[in-house]
Amino acid sequence: MPPFTDDRDRVDVRSLSLPEIRDLVQGLGKEKFRALQVYKWIWQRKIASFQEMTNISKSFRAELGERAFLYELALERMERSRDGTRKLAWRLRDGQRVESVLIPGGERLTLCISSQVGCAMGCTFCLTGDLGFVRNLSPAEIALQVSQAEGLLDAGERISNIVLMGMGEPLANLDNVLVALGILLDENALNYSHRKITVSTAGLVKGLVRLADASPVNLAVSLNASTDGQRDAIMPVNKAHGLGELLEICRRLPLPAGKRITFEYVMIAGFNDSLDDARRLLKMLRPVKAKVNLIPYNENPHRDLECPSDEVVGAFQDHVVQGGIQCSVRSSRGLDISAACGQLGKRATQTEE
Ligand code: SF4
Repeated sequence: MPPFTDDRDRVDVRSLSLPEIRDLVQGLGKEKFRALQVYKWIWQRKIASFQEMTNISKSFRAELGERAFLYELALERMERSRDGTRKLAWRLRDGQRVESVLIPGGERLTLCISSQVGCAMGCTFCLTGDLGFVRNLSPAEIALQVSQAEGLLDAGERISNIVLMGMGEPLANLDNVLVALGILLDENALNYSHRKITVSTAGLVKGLVRLADASPVNLAVSLNASTDGQRDAIMPVNKAHGLGELLEICRRLPLPAGKRITFEYVMIAGFNDSLDDARRLLKMLRPVKAKVNLIPYNENPHRDLECPSDEVVGAFQDHVVQGGIQCSVRSSRGLDISAACGQLGKRATQTEE
């Protein structure tokens, strides 16, 4: 079943932007301002049925129910890691599954969400890539990961940051991601600041340009290599868009004042973790408004790859910082529930095998 319509051919109103809801409402012969009322009901009041819209006439509610439906994700499982990380496994209307991860850290509570079922990018270090590409998520399926996670928080918690770094390549599903970002950012919907939302890509250059033009959210690029040879070996996308092209596009992106692109660098022992790598990385990133996030590889039984020692990671970080580029190390979270970076989707498939 396609996610945008149901078996009665009704449209999923949670996958519509506000202008599209206006078209729907006007198509039913109603005033334009009704669209904003509907939009607020579905995203701010999180209604489960049109019948709950008490400031809208019964007849309009009934008409809307004939033409549209309200998508909801089914929470299949919530696992809690020893370190407080929570993995949320969602069942979609067509039976597919995606995962989101809530990651506490100091004052922050970051929600990592998915943009596709599976992923076509085939990065060799990433277990999500093993699933292959299944399908794109609809705008509702992306935005609802945030809206419904809000309802599952512990007392006193609030999501502070949202990252599109879960399953899938967001820029390969950019039309739907842009509608979902509109819903996350709109003060009449989920009302998050663009400063708190980050979209990460493996390096789809056209999508990067389009996203930077269309939305003020933060950008992250999964780099993971200091030479084309290295990157070709672990990220097939590099054969289409090599480092030179990718970094030149990044250099020219129209970033708002004060914004920097985050370059994620998964560190794999003996592969891309030497000081020569750090030197090349610095040289590559100098012309770009860049900061670096090092991600020591999350070891797992499915890959013969190792995580560098703390000393090696520290020396690499020091070198980048001394070269004048801000550089942080992402601590590994949720390893015991397969919720760490690059692990999403793996357990779900394993239990089915
Ligand atoms: S790292 Fe990201 S882009 Fe690469 S295979 Fe995994 S989910 Fe896809």
